[in-house]
Amino acid sequence: MKSIVTAAAMALSVLDPAVAAGTELQISRAGSRAAYIAPEQNFTGKVSVEMLQTPSGEERASAGSVSFTPGARTAWHSHPLGQTLIVTAGIGRIQRWGGPVEEIRVGDVVHIPPHVKHWHGAAPDSAMTHIAITEMLNGSAADWMEQVPEEQYRVAPATVVKAAGAQPSQGQTLFGDIAPKFAQLTDEVLFGDVWARPGLSRRDRSLATVSALTAMYRPEQLKGHLALARQNGLSEAELVEVLTHLAFYAGWPNTVTAIGVARDVFSQPKP
Ligand code: MN
Repeated sequence: MKSIVTAAAMALSVLDPAVAAGTELQISRAGSRAAYIAPEQNFTGKVSVEMLQTPSGEERASAGSVSFTPGARTAWHSHPLGQTLIVTAGIGRIQRWGGPVEEIRVGDVVHIPPHVKHWHGAAPDSAMTHIAITEMLNGSAADWMEQVPEEQYRVAPATVVKAAGAQPSQGQTLFGDIAPKFAQLTDEVLFGDVWARPGLSRRDRSLATVSALTAMYRPEQLKGHLALARQNGLSEAELVEVLTHLAFYAGWPNTVTAIGVARDVFSQPKP
């Protein structure tokens, strides 16, 4: 009986006009797509790609979510039909051949016209994820060229130089008025050395810091570090997951308080 029902269901699906014409919607569920490591001949550093859309038949548009660890970037390349990048996490860099290095942040959208030589990637001290939408021509989405060497990659971005000159440092802002030595230690040792060390990404340092501040019940400091964690490439959903996880290790009331802090922080626009 069961096999008859299955056979009937299969026959129905074959005859379904939506299936026959290839018009069914295809939903790939969150968390179900595999990521692969980008090939090292075309990238520097660790880069992972989660394909969101692979064209078939007459289709041309491909879409992928590309995650660069701090310092990672593409080689120089161009696209036969151009490319659109949508930054979804962290802080990145992009440069066209002969142009300035530009900083890109969450929510920025970059369009690269066809045949323009360029590279894109993470900032040296921040991870970056972007969605790349690229039309394929004769099965190719990119023409790959030489790697981006350190001396090209390390050029200070035009956009940040302006911002840095206008803003006082974090330590100076928080403590400079009353505790200048503590402000200097905060800037030079804590953020300038410890947070910048390559042994752990800024994103992972934020995970550790947010966890410690939640477990130790430090809502004042947690506020600043939840904001910093967003800048360092952690999504709001990931941070809420951390707080939920911590309820079982650091105590339920600590998570209740931390979620209240997170609600306030997430209601603010990202700097
Ligand atoms: Mn590109």
